[in-house]
Amino acid sequence: MGRFFGKVKTGKGRCSYCKGVFSKAGVVRHLATCAARPERLAESQDCFWLAVAGADDPRYWMYLEAPVTETLYGLDRFLRDIWLACCGHLSLFYIAGVEYLSDPADEDESDPDFYGDDYDDLAEKDMDFELRDVLREGMQFIHAYDFGSTTRLKLKVVGRRAGGKGDIAIMARNLAPDIECSYCANPAEKVCSVCQWDDSGWLCGKCAGEHEHGEGYLLPVVNSPRVGVCAYCGGDYEEDENE
Ligand SMILES: [Zn+2]
Ligand SMILES: [Zn+2]
Ligand SMILES: [Zn+2]
Ligand SMILES: [Zn+2]
Repeated sequence: MGRFFGKVKTGKGRCSYCKGVFSKAGVVRHLATCAARPERLAESQDCFWLAVAGADDPRYWMYLEAPVTETLYGLDRFLRDIWLACCGHLSLFYIAGVEYLSDPADEDESDPDFYGDDYDDLAEKDMDFELRDVLREGMQFIHAYDFGSTTRLKLKVVGRRAGGKGDIAIMARNLAPDIECSYCANPAEKVCSVCQWDDSGWLCGKCAGEHEHGEGYLLPVVNSPRVGVCAYCGGDYEEDENE
């Protein structure tokens, strides 16, 4: 199953229904039987279970349920709201050889070369497609936000079942990883957007005050694979989402 679902340190996460904390592997088994979950399945509607993780940092992960009639635009919006949105960059899904672009009109800008020469003939579409028309159980696909300082997510369709609230919902999500200051052992509170690329930009409150790059470059440490990138300051659901 590759790096995404292989032996990576994925930490622990919390079930949104019962608030139990599990390993990433354990939470998948747990979600199938969580006693708090069936109460939320009153409406009869099919949902996809989706696994989402940072492609370059799998410590950040979520399990979502999304109505099969939700559109790619809706899923894109959800991912932006919780993990990505800084200043309105373009995004895309790459599913089974097709690019679905947030703004396909900007042809010149929407030409990321993520996939190598094999994909020169890539078909490009917008995101106005229902999930049930483009996804199948077991399928893996990619989401990319910002074609300059790109944050890539890997997604997988874990399964499909009846139920759901009618909106995309977080079933479980990683707990914020413990990140130490790059210069002492205190917990990092800020990340320098200049230094984060060589992993020396994590700063505790004290070291942030002495850092060579000023306040203007410092971003808050947030629970997202886009932490420290562009102007990203965190999403809509930083703590105890889905209440
Ligand atoms: Zn639970
Ligand atoms: Zn930005
Ligand atoms: Zn420090
Ligand atoms: Zn710096």
